[in-house]
Amino acid sequence: KIEKSKKFQDIHVEAARFYFSNLLSSKNLGYEYLRKRGLDDKIIKTFGLGFAVDSWNSLMNYLISKGYSKEELVECGLIAHKTEGNKYYDKFRNRVMFPIFDYRGNVIGFGGRVLDDSVPKYLNSPDTLIFNKRLNLYGLNFARKNIVDRTVVLVEGYMDLISIYQYGIKNVVATLGTALTEQQGHLIKRYADTAIISYDSDNAGVNASLRAMDILVKLGINVKVLDLKDCKDPDEFIRKHGLEEFKKAMDASTHYIKYKINHLKKSFNLNKDEERVKFAKEASKIIKELKSPVEIDYYTKYLSSLIDISTESIKREVYGKNYNKS
Ligand code: ATP
Ligand code: MN
Ligand code: MN
Ligand code: MN
Repeated sequence: KIEKSKKFQDIHVEAARFYFSNLLSSKNLGYEYLRKRGLDDKIIKTFGLGFAVDSWNSLMNYLISKGYSKEELVECGLIAHKTEGNKYYDKFRNRVMFPIFDYRGNVIGFGGRVLDDSVPKYLNSPDTLIFNKRLNLYGLNFARKNIVDRTVVLVEGYMDLISIYQYGIKNVVATLGTALTEQQGHLIKRYADTAIISYDSDNAGVNASLRAMDILVKLGINVKVLDLKDCKDPDEFIRKHGLEEFKKAMDASTHYIKYKINHLKKSFNLNKDEERVKFAKEASKIIKELKSPVEIDYYTKYLSSLIDISTESIKREVYGKNYNKS
């Protein structure tokens, strides 16, 4: 099994080299695309970005010429097999290719993006002998060498990560569009005490942020959320506002309790008495998650300022029958 892993590893390295040389050989559409997205040659090289040409068998033929079997390539998730007609074909076609590294920097999978608006926008390697999505964090091989203040930035995807990395934010990891797992949380914990979540500002991103923060907080990580203002994702933000503004946004990122309260607030009409009261009760439950009396005091004041209910009664709500002991 170890031998097989080693072989799969070699296959991925060969594939990554192949895609990379495709990208640079003929300055093709893939290269044009990445340049249009603002990436320079240096960052393309650092991340080993590549291109899968529009062909059903170019990678397959190349890897077979290197001595690998179709069955192995299928097991690596690089080529597909259609039992009907017994056909084999390259899974990634006409896509820019992002090698996925493990924390040591070994290529263990790929993500491929279309060059236009067609769907699916991204295609990722399936889980294989050497790749387990739930256990891996994209970019950790780079980030772990660039941790500042034991803080990491958490983003959704390839483009966000590479884009802010190019601008100089190198302590960044990505979950690749799937929900953050507990195992990924543990990985983060190994290198950081603070995580700044910077997922997309759309509903999917907000919901993923809420789920990720619960996992991270449980692991004892200090969690904050970056405010992307008018932008849909960190890539757009840094390209529009620049590195200094991004750093300012990191500094000003919102403590997760405040983020949760602000999010909750959106679903209430605070002009109505009943809704105001309901919001106060629900928000008190959020504050209840905190252990530190100082933090409780701080966010109680914040909540009180939003709805004009006394801090005294919010604290009663938070502490319940333990109130007098506190
Ligand atoms: P771009 O700016 O090129 O559109 P993005 O990273 O902003 O890329 P999102 O749609 O926000 O794209 O997706 C975030 C991440 O989620 C991607 O980097 C990718 O890892 C994953 N993802 C998105 N769509 C899919 C899909 N259809 N299948 C699998 N993974 C996907
Ligand atoms: Mn998204
Ligand atoms: Mn984007
Ligand atoms: Mn996005």
